[in-house]
Amino acid sequence: MNKVAIIGAGPMGLAAAYELAKQGKQVDIYEFDDRIGGMSAHFDFNGMNIERYYHFVCGQDQPLFDLMDELNMRDKLHWVDTKMGYYYNGQLHKWGDPFSLLKFPHLDLISKLRYGAHMFFSSKRKKDKWKDLDSVDAVNWLKKGGGEKSYKILWERLFKLKFHHYTDNLSAAWIWARIRRMGTSRRSIFQESLGYIEDGSETLLNRLQQEIENKGGRVLLNTAVSEVVSNDKNKVTGIKVGNEEINYDQVISTIPLQYLPKMIPQLPDEHLIQYKQVQNIGVVCLLFKLKKAVTPNFWLNISDDNFEIPGVIEMSNLRPLSEHIIYVPYYMPQSLDKFKWTDEQFIDEAKTYLRKLNPELIDSDFIDINVARYAFAQPICQPDFAHHLPPMRSAIEGLFIADTSYYYPEDRSISESIHLGKQLAEMSSL
Ligand SMILES: Cc1cc2nc3c(=O)[nH]c(=O)nc-3n(C[C@H](O)[C@H](O)[C@H](O)COP(=O)(O)OP(=O)(O)OC[C@H]3O[C@@H](n4cnc5c(N)ncnc54)[C@H](O)[C@@H]3O)c2cc1C
Repeated sequence: MNKVAIIGAGPMGLAAAYELAKQGKQVDIYEFDDRIGGMSAHFDFNGMNIERYYHFVCGQDQPLFDLMDELNMRDKLHWVDTKMGYYYNGQLHKWGDPFSLLKFPHLDLISKLRYGAHMFFSSKRKKDKWKDLDSVDAVNWLKKGGGEKSYKILWERLFKLKFHHYTDNLSAAWIWARIRRMGTSRRSIFQESLGYIEDGSETLLNRLQQEIENKGGRVLLNTAVSEVVSNDKNKVTGIKVGNEEINYDQVISTIPLQYLPKMIPQLPDEHLIQYKQVQNIGVVCLLFKLKKAVTPNFWLNISDDNFEIPGVIEMSNLRPLSEHIIYVPYYMPQSLDKFKWTDEQFIDEAKTYLRKLNPELIDSDFIDINVARYAFAQPICQPDFAHHLPPMRSAIEGLFIADTSYYYPEDRSISESIHLGKQLAEMSSL
């Protein structure tokens, strides 16, 4: 029987394993962490089982819907009319519909109309039309479409705090795909509608694990793969865990590309260089359990010189939870000194932000706080990004490689990982 090793038990690894287990292959998933899920893993937030990082579902997450249908669990997906806000220079504004844009006091009418039209037509642009934007620079595309003023007021600070020094070298196709993803998740132009999985992403991921195990697959936690082994005919023969070599006919890697040069140095140099060149930003994500809501919004963009975060995500305004839950993400390259701040430094700063957003918050309203860090939270996609990636079918026979960079031009999501996991499984079966 064909034996396959999958490296990484995030949504991509689990989806690939599920597809292969359905075909009757013997699949083992190796996971470094003590739990499945990767970036979408849950943890025990002192009695509340919740994702370390915020997760919501959008209307275009078709691979996720298809998988939930297949597993007969679509009833676990719920949709909510969500509110969005924009905190601009000390003031909270409604956001995300034409009336809010027209009422926004910091832009002139012409700029508002240009910006609104650009967002509207961008979200209507067909998904397969991304190639026209592939080699275009995102900032120039936004300025050209929505006007210089609207870029300065609405985007500039958000980009600086999300993408830092990469801001001037981003692919327009990639930024457009993010605008489209949010822009199409609406009931009408007046109402955003976002989804969540009942009890969180784990509901789906646990079910996948169960299906894999029912079909004879194994999920090995706390088991980091240290090497992928191949023979002198350039054919994969297995993996190494510590010093132990374990034989496999095929290997699928779903871990961040940055780990590959050390794990598979026998890949061609030109591919190793390409993996090394993929830039990434990390995230330090704070999670607060509060007695009061901060605002009524699910998503709140922030552009204010006194805030060093691009926004906050109030999960309890999307998903029913026993307390008010808000995520405060700091995105930054790991090279930034601030990435080394202690948890306490981040907590102190984020608390002052939440108090500015809702001055009624007092010390006793803060019930619990968690700080989670992920080194490779977001690939940075520059113009022509697709041409900078080696093929998923690697130069070593029987070895297949992808990670979240391969979604391009789509933004990271569980749905895209499911899609790619399925693709990797299909490719390995040809
Ligand atoms: C802050 C944040 C917010 C997000 N918001 C959303 C959202 O709202 N909606 C949405 O759909 N998605 C969201 N995502 C993205 C989503 O979580 C990811 O797209 C998805 O989890 C990627 O899955 P993956 O399996 O491709 O990779 P990963 O989740 O990165 O999984 C890779 C796995 O490989 C393991 N691994 C690494 N090295 C080794 C090794 N040597 N041996 C064995 N295992 C190893 C890791 O521990 C990890 O479990 C968000 C992510 C972040 C960080």
